[in-house]
Amino acid sequence: QTVKKKQGKEKQMQPQPVFEKERDALRLRNKVAIITGGDSGIGKAVAIAFAKEGADIVIAYHEDNEDARATAARIESIGQQCLLIAGDISKPAHCKKIIQQTVNRFGKLDIVVNNAGIQFPQKELSAITPDQLKKTFETNIFAMFYLVQAAEPYLQEGASIINTTSVTAYRGSSHLLDYSATKGAIVSYTRSLSAYFAKHKIRVNGVAPGPVWTPLIPATFPPKHVSSFGSDTPLGRAGEPVEVAGCYVFLASEEASYLTGQILHPNGGEIVNA
Ligand code: NAD
Repeated sequence: QTVKKKQGKEKQMQPQPVFEKERDALRLRNKVAIITGGDSGIGKAVAIAFAKEGADIVIAYHEDNEDARATAARIESIGQQCLLIAGDISKPAHCKKIIQQTVNRFGKLDIVVNNAGIQFPQKELSAITPDQLKKTFETNIFAMFYLVQAAEPYLQEGASIINTTSVTAYRGSSHLLDYSATKGAIVSYTRSLSAYFAKHKIRVNGVAPGPVWTPLIPATFPPKHVSSFGSDTPLGRAGEPVEVAGCYVFLASEEASYLTGQILHPNGGEIVNA
């Protein structure tokens, strides 16, 4: 009987497995998520996917545009709130403003998706100017420091940070030298930040997309490259933003509660060296 009692007690102490929860429970119900670059491409798909799972959304994007307003309207039509904050995330003061406005509006912050990124048209190594190098690093990686620094005081146990890196961080890119270097830095930053936040039970993971059809592609690649974009992947095609968004939902949700410091690779089947 003593053994039985003890077993009963131990069973009670086990965390409730996710699959025993109500099947219709939304995975991000009552969560507040900031998504940088949430007005376009991958970020937009993530914003809509999070809203469908019950999260209120803050879209931090660069310049006012029709896409941002349409995305906000779409999120509100799902029944979630959406706050649009335009401005340059490579400026520390703007990152503080994003966090302050989020907390003022929603009273808390649960998920930070550092997704905004830029790449410049392909150039020779010698053509990469100090200004381009500075802008690429400031936007793609420095901003991830500024936003998380500003968010830190508000992040509670159970919060989740997700950083967008790229397949180029792993395999390199002869024609995107500066961009792929920032993406490599994001992988290291993600791992280090996960170790830093682990004691607070805050998880930090990354997503490393392969080729994905977004406005970034025709805007920055030559037409020849665009027409064959993604054809060299094992699946033989580029992905759609919505096919990548599920990785972010999973990482932000309790289903990934034992996952931190990891990178997911939605890339059409390319095997990368971790
Ligand atoms: P996108 O151009 O459609 O969206 C990027 C968004 O980032 C912009 O709309 C803009 O709002 C935001 N942004 C850029 N500079 C900013 C700044 N200074 N301040 C605030 N916001 C700024 O591109 P996308 O393809 O959806 O890219 C999203 C992320 O995915 C990027 O980090 C990119 O490097 C990464 N990525 C894309 C691909 C791909 O094939 N599309 C592959 C791997 C990784």
